[in-house]
Amino acid sequence: MSVIIKTPEQIKIIREGGKILAKVLDKVAKKVAPGISTHDLDKYTFDIIKEEEATPAFLNYRPEGAPKAFPASICISVNNEIVHGIPLKTRILKEGDIVSLDLGIKYKGLFTDHAVTVPVGTISKKDQQLLNDTKKALEIGIMAACGGATVGDIGHAIESFVDKRYGIVRELAGHGVGVKIHEDPYIPNYGKAGKGQKLIPGMIVAIEPMLNIGKAGIVSASDDWTIKTTDGKRSAHFEHTILITEGEAEILTKI
Ligand code: MG
Repeated sequence: MSVIIKTPEQIKIIREGGKILAKVLDKVAKKVAPGISTHDLDKYTFDIIKEEEATPAFLNYRPEGAPKAFPASICISVNNEIVHGIPLKTRILKEGDIVSLDLGIKYKGLFTDHAVTVPVGTISKKDQQLLNDTKKALEIGIMAACGGATVGDIGHAIESFVDKRYGIVRELAGHGVGVKIHEDPYIPNYGKAGKGQKLIPGMIVAIEPMLNIGKAGIVSASDDWTIKTTDGKRSAHFEHTILITEGEAEILTKI
C-alpha cells in the first residue's frame, strides 16, 4: 500500500476541482423532483460538468475485475439501492423516494469525489432521520480525520456514532483520491481506534459512510453495477473529499 502525499500545486487544483464538483452536485440535487427520470439527471450532470471544463470521472470507468464500464456520468441510487445505480430513462423518481447522487470529476488532470442523498418531495420521518444520521456520520468521520490520527480512528468514530442503529455497509469504503479516482488508503466505515494507515498532512481522501435502515448486507443487481440492500430496506450515502492537515481536515467538495 502506498499513499500519495499531494504537492501544494496539486492541492491547489484539487481545491478548485472540489468547489466545481460541489457546485455541480448542488445543481443536480436541486433538479431532483417527482416525475424526472434518472437519465435526465445524468444528461444534465454531463452538460454542466462540460460547462466547467471538467470531465465526469465515472463515465466509462472500469475498475479491475468489473465486467463492464460504468455507462453514465453520475451514480444515482434510489431507495434500497445503496450505490452505483445506473441512470435510466425508465427510472422515474416519485414523491417519497430518497436518492443518492454520487459524482466524481476530473479537473486539470486531478480527481475529486462527492455524494449526497436527497429527498424527492416529502419523505417519511424515518427516511429523513436516516438522511440526517448518515450526513452526521460523515461529519463525525471528517472530525476524526486529523493529521496524526489513523484510518481506524475514522471508522471507529463513525461506528461509535451509528451505535447499531443502522446497518453499516462493510464491503464498500472511503479511499484516497486525487491522482486517481480510487487510491490508497482504503477507509472502512468501522474499525478500531489507532489502527491502520496514519493520516499524513497532504493526503487527500474521500470519506463515504453508507447506512442501511435494516441489515448491513449488500447484493449486486443483474446490471453488474447497482448495489442494493439484501432486505429491500432503504439506504443513504454521503461523501466528501477532504485534505488532511496538521489539525482538522479541510473539506474540499464545498462551494
Ligand atoms: Mg468514492
